[in-house]
Amino acid sequence: MTGTLTVVGLGPSGTDFTTPSVLKALEEATDVVGYFTYVDRLPPAGPHQRRHASDNRVEIERARVALSLAAEGRRVVVVSGGDPGVFAMAAAVFEALEYGEPGWRALDVRVEPGITAMLAAAALAGAPLGGDFCAISLSDNLKSWATIERRLTAAAEGDFAIAIYNPASRARPEQLGRAFDLLRRCKPAETVVLFVRAAGSSEAALDITTLGAADHTKADMRTLIIVGSSQTRLIERADQTPWVYTPRSEQVRAS
Ligand code: SAH
Repeated sequence: MTGTLTVVGLGPSGTDFTTPSVLKALEEATDVVGYFTYVDRLPPAGPHQRRHASDNRVEIERARVALSLAAEGRRVVVVSGGDPGVFAMAAAVFEALEYGEPGWRALDVRVEPGITAMLAAAALAGAPLGGDFCAISLSDNLKSWATIERRLTAAAEGDFAIAIYNPASRARPEQLGRAFDLLRRCKPAETVVLFVRAAGSSEAALDITTLGAADHTKADMRTLIIVGSSQTRLIERADQTPWVYTPRSEQVRAS
């Protein structure tokens, strides 16, 4: 039997946002491979399924394990949070495939999309990604800080709304502060900034602030930051959180 490997995204939190297609792939899997945080989110499995949860942060190694299992004829699912193609396991699987055993190329390898954190976060606030936007990860495990600075500067110059993934971790507490300092040099202080924590879960929290006032110490590993474009604005409401949106049109109509 030809083995299969499906890389799935569970969505931002729990399984409420997990697509039926991903749930089906999980049900049919003989082996589930992933970082323990994501494997722990799965509903309990029957005895037919082996789970290979690890705290190994080296994604390519995990991808090789998954490919080896598939090459033995097993139905393997690799789990990621959010979407597997956004700062997650899908690219690691293809990198392992490109440089790995030639026989792995005959495997049935598929990617099942998921709702990525920035979309769940944006939906909580309104429509802040309604115009052109980009996504940047602040993690410098796999790329240099100079690259991150170059991309942030280009995003600011292009007036994109910017979704910032991996804003902080225990090992990297200062990088979001450095990113805000850089953006403050090229964007107005009143630019809308959103901190969205645990989007899609019952603890979801939205904090609306400005680039001038943004406090980088408020972000953790479960926070996604959205820095607005020059067009991103608030719709104020009495005693309620304002809505935040970025109009699609460059000329906003005066009523
Ligand atoms: N593949 C994932 C992203 C992995 S990078 C996806 O598509 O969403 C991990 C980063 O994603 C975190 O540091 C955080 O910035 C963001 N993130 C993941 N889940 C989140 C959630 N529920 N709420 C807010 N941000 C989240």
